[in-house]
Amino acid sequence: MNKFDNAFVHCSSCNVSVIFDLIDDIGCDWGSHTVIQCPNCEELFSIDHKCPAFSSLLELLELNADLLNQQEILDYLSTSHSC
Ligand SMILES: [Zn+2]
Ligand SMILES: [Zn+2]
Repeated sequence: MNKFDNAFVHCSSCNVSVIFDLIDDIGCDWGSHTVIQCPNCEELFSIDHKCPAFSSLLELLELNADLLNQQEILDYLSTSHSC
């Protein structure tokens, strides 16, 4: 998912429009994820699957309605950790 490259996204954590940094392969207690990090507040959002260790992409979606389409939302939620 490269849609975050050079795209301003409104951070739901610090309320600023920023270009997120992409971080491949960061570990959580249950596996690993691709995440994006806000360069302003350093909040991490998992972008491959929902994970309790990171903020949810759905929080960004509330402020950036065109960030994901319906299928991408389903994919994002479908393999979330059970805990
Ligand atoms: Zn932020
Ligand atoms: Zn995880």
